[in-house]
Amino acid sequence: DRRRRGRLLDLHREVTAYYHHLLLTSPDAAHARDYLKSRGFGKEMAERWQIGWAPPPNIFVPWAKAQGMRGRDLVDSGIALQKEQGGLYFRFRDRLMFPLRNDYGDVIGFSGRQLREDPRSGKYINSPETALFKKSNVLFALDRARKGILKEKTVLLCEGQMDAIACHEQGIESAIAGLGTAFTPQHARTLKRYTKNAILCFDADSAGITASERSFRELSTVGVAVRVIQLPAGEDPDSYMQKHGVEAFRGLLDKAVNYFDFRIEQALANNALSGPQEKATFTQECAQLLAVIHDDVTRDAMIQHVATRLRLGAQELTSAVNQAKRK
Ligand code: ATP
Ligand code: MN
Ligand code: MN
Ligand code: MN
Repeated sequence: DRRRRGRLLDLHREVTAYYHHLLLTSPDAAHARDYLKSRGFGKEMAERWQIGWAPPPNIFVPWAKAQGMRGRDLVDSGIALQKEQGGLYFRFRDRLMFPLRNDYGDVIGFSGRQLREDPRSGKYINSPETALFKKSNVLFALDRARKGILKEKTVLLCEGQMDAIACHEQGIESAIAGLGTAFTPQHARTLKRYTKNAILCFDADSAGITASERSFRELSTVGVAVRVIQLPAGEDPDSYMQKHGVEAFRGLLDKAVNYFDFRIEQALANNALSGPQEKATFTQECAQLLAVIHDDVTRDAMIQHVATRLRLGAQELTSAVNQAKRK
């Protein structure tokens, strides 16, 4: 109900401010400040994004008690879990904290990054599903990117929040990021309210390639046109800009190609078009992807384009697409 939501929003706001305050001032957070610096964050940048530090429970609990926070609210917000034998387990310990916001800019959850590598838990941990946080419709930085998306008439979709932050800090204000979870139909519908064009800036690794196909499918289904930028192997937008600067990254954005050209270039690079059998297999793959395109005119135009590049008859590719659609 509304009062309960209001309470949870208040709690998120207070915890965000506390984490942020600790990051900037606590003697116990010196290592977190060093880490932040190593990632190229200055103090103002940390302030703009309200980055914080989640302390260990022996620091957090007395503070929460002094604020009058109740265990039940901490559990309902996903910050703590109820232990079976009683007592609370805290989800975020000694992590760099990124507030996750809804469209209005209210904090509704957190993503916490490890400060040192530890395989016993994930590099990032996000809030669980709560009354406020529905991961299938939250996109990082969308509240800040709205204006930029409308102005550029396109959205830049990155994989990680660090990538979206790096873009905004460099003046590329149409950037948003998923939260490491699969891109959903709901995400696609949300974005479509703002723009009919997307540029995917995913990591140049196998996870990024898989994620970009998923995003292409969801976006094409709702009629958003998809282009892709190609980063050097192993890079993401953040690491690329750290090395080569924003102008080089803008150069890549200018050279973004439509999703099918991206697939064809990849196939060529992987020798996946070297013989007739390989070419047939790849053609079927393209047909499956072309079949997803919602708009008839766009789909036909893209079929023509792919057929030309693969030196196939447009008729033949069209019937392969129609067959794929029926499945
Ligand atoms: P960083 O630059 O801090 O290492 P990244 O954004 O480059 O982070 P990737 O490994 O490329 O991280 O993963 C992309 C996104 O996937 C992350 O931003 C995060 O949202 C999510 N993610 C990564 N690792 C995990 C994990 N172990 N558990 C949950 N989500 C994760
Ligand atoms: Mn990656
Ligand atoms: Mn990455
Ligand atoms: Mn990264």
